[in-house]
Amino acid sequence: VDAPLFAGLPGDAEISFEFFPPKSEKMDAQLWDSIVTLAPLAPRFVSVTYGAGGSTRERTHATVARIVKETGIPAAAHLTCVEASKQDIREVAEAYWEAGVRHIVALRGDPPSEGEFFKPHPQGYDSAAALVKGLKEIADFEISVAAYPETHPQADCPQSDIDNLKRKLDAGASRAITQMFFDPEVFFRFRDKAAAAGIDQELVPGILPVSNVAQARKFSGMCGVTIPAWMDELYEGLDDHPDARALVAATLTSEMCRKLYAGGVRHFHFYTLNRAELSYAICHLLGKRPVANNAKDIAA
Ligand code: FAD
Repeated sequence: VDAPLFAGLPGDAEISFEFFPPKSEKMDAQLWDSIVTLAPLAPRFVSVTYGAGGSTRERTHATVARIVKETGIPAAAHLTCVEASKQDIREVAEAYWEAGVRHIVALRGDPPSEGEFFKPHPQGYDSAAALVKGLKEIADFEISVAAYPETHPQADCPQSDIDNLKRKLDAGASRAITQMFFDPEVFFRFRDKAAAAGIDQELVPGILPVSNVAQARKFSGMCGVTIPAWMDELYEGLDDHPDARALVAATLTSEMCRKLYAGGVRHFHFYTLNRAELSYAICHLLGKRPVANNAKDIAA
């Protein structure tokens, strides 16, 4: 971007935030604080994840329905095929439609126990592409799907993963949100390959501001995401300095977002882990400012 380093960006990019459904009252309060903090930035949507094996079915529903009712922000519910028949999916989807939820993040999902492979339910959907098609037959949902800049770990090869992404989009999804990544070039190369495969829908980078690199490494390993060696070096010696780690995270993530912006990205999806401050700071550096009425209404 042709601007001095600290000039910030014009704020014309769209943002969205991902949350997970809370397990306790304390976590519920933390989630709600985060939503109240981030909502004034007028996200295009917020989304709420679905636990492995549908373990959060009720909590995801309750959280999404509450966001729609109390904030008016468009909220998307994640939904997976794991251990669900087509009839189960229909019931969940119809309940969302009834509650005013019009956006689903449609996923295949993973089995509840680590290390096991996905097995479709005998009367269920066998892939996210099949789920997208099924959901579109139930109601005219807006649908987002997952994309993997570094290839999904179970894919036969990068090209077959891209072909699969195209199938999901052709089945009716309007955008793909990517798995996290830590090198903008990884995203750009993936975007080029997707374009070469005829994908012209929006690819939204999933942004994880990492303030605990050891934890991120554990998670990244399971989903085939590379953490560059320089990231370890950056966090070296900061184990006992959580505030400094957060500052480093905000700095390096906003730098990555600036590079993505310079490469034409205009929608950033933040994995918030139900904490607002890092995402808020990065959005601020992207030029986002609270929208006055939104802030007042939501605080009320
Ligand atoms: P699919 O698109 O069905 O792909 C799964 C694998 O099968 C890929 O390797 C694909 O290449 C391959 N494949 C599919 N069809 C074919 C075919 N016909 N031929 C050859 N290969 C094929 N998980 C949750 O449990 N809950 C969540 O809320 C959740 N949210 C997520 C949000 C985002 C943005 C992302 C990126 C991931 C999320 N996940 C979530 C994780 C996701 O469920 C896992 O990554 C899962 O293993 C794959 O789901 P998918 O929807 O990408 O599956």
